[in-house]
Amino acid sequence: METETEQVSLENDQPPGCSREKNDWRRQLRNSIKDIEGLKKAFSLNAAEVDCLAAAISNYPFRITPYYLSLIDRQNPEDPVRLQCVPSKYEERLYLELQDDPLGEEKDTVVKGLVHRYPDRVLVGLTDICPVYCRHCTRKREWHKGFWTRTASELEDIYAYISDHKEIRDVILSGGDPFILSTEKLEAILKRLRGMSHVEIIRIGTRCPVVLPQRIDDELVSMLKKYRPIWLNTHFNHPNEITPESARACDRILCAGIPVNNQTVLLKGINDDAAIMTKLCQGLLRMGVRPYYLFQCDPVTGTGHFRTSIDKGLEIIKAMRGFTSGLCVPTYVIDGLEGQGKVPLQPEYLVSREKDHFVFKSYKGELFKYHNPEGQR
Ligand SMILES: *Cc1c(COP(=O)(O)O)cnc(C)c1O
Ligand code: SF4
Repeated sequence: METETEQVSLENDQPPGCSREKNDWRRQLRNSIKDIEGLKKAFSLNAAEVDCLAAAISNYPFRITPYYLSLIDRQNPEDPVRLQCVPSKYEERLYLELQDDPLGEEKDTVVKGLVHRYPDRVLVGLTDICPVYCRHCTRKREWHKGFWTRTASELEDIYAYISDHKEIRDVILSGGDPFILSTEKLEAILKRLRGMSHVEIIRIGTRCPVVLPQRIDDELVSMLKKYRPIWLNTHFNHPNEITPESARACDRILCAGIPVNNQTVLLKGINDDAAIMTKLCQGLLRMGVRPYYLFQCDPVTGTGHFRTSIDKGLEIIKAMRGFTSGLCVPTYVIDGLEGQGKVPLQPEYLVSREKDHFVFKSYKGELFKYHNPEGQR
């Protein structure tokens, strides 16, 4: 198994004479904070504060890019970007409902690295390495296995499975962050997938636009452009993450003809507030990014302190729907336990029904009647 340092230095191998821009994201990774000394310095933590974090850090590694660090108000211990990336003693807190793999991804793994849960699409984990390790990550269980990227032979098994299953029309490349791979490696993967005619679309899940926008360089974007239709899903959680740099990264992807959608996780103390969520989603639309899902935070070990009630999520959607652009409103989903799949949740607008007669409540809370057209079933 490769250690993270080896992996990153491996990805650092580069031909002589490559552009300065290309070096930029690698420099960000090299200069990231990833040990306790770095954390102590960056946040002027005292010995007692550091002691509290030791257990959490030994269980769950961290990394913060200089760019993402620059978004934090270091005077504010509750800063929403800080809470997403700086380890907390609460990660050690146990709650009854928490599990390592509550969604049953291991159970639905049909080939190492490939989850086939839904009829026509599969999720492929290419690596568990990320530029920043989100404290709320659903796949925290992977971090205990060290840092890995799929080997050539594991990839062959994945290609063979997809090639044999003609019902797969949508392949989701995820992880970890697929953009941590070199552009060359990623291109080899896309090329193989594009060689299978039943694979209609490829989706890439990446947090790079948010935590390492330097990664979205010309070389990457012109490579991706060749393998469309690609749909990119990213992961903004707070309006403070909307910056000129992240907007530029999204714009480059969009200009290559690759639609960008966003998946937000509902996080206590970060975005569990209708005004913050509205500001975030309006900011995304300004960048041309469509809010896709708002996820209820999964019951994953090490993330319990971020979880809110489902009522909170419904309250936020209710405060958005009708009050701002419909494009702004994400679908609120909980991911069912043990692989039951995603369930969309909506505030209740249907108050009562008798046969063909309905009573609805408008977004403003006013009741009104509606009925089915006569004779229609
Ligand atoms: C979320 C998810 C998908 C994609 O679901 P969509 O609703 O199509 O975005 C696919 N496979 C797995 C295992 C998932 O968790
Ligand atoms: S970028 Fe995604 S996979 Fe990586 S740590 Fe964050 S939530 Fe997890």
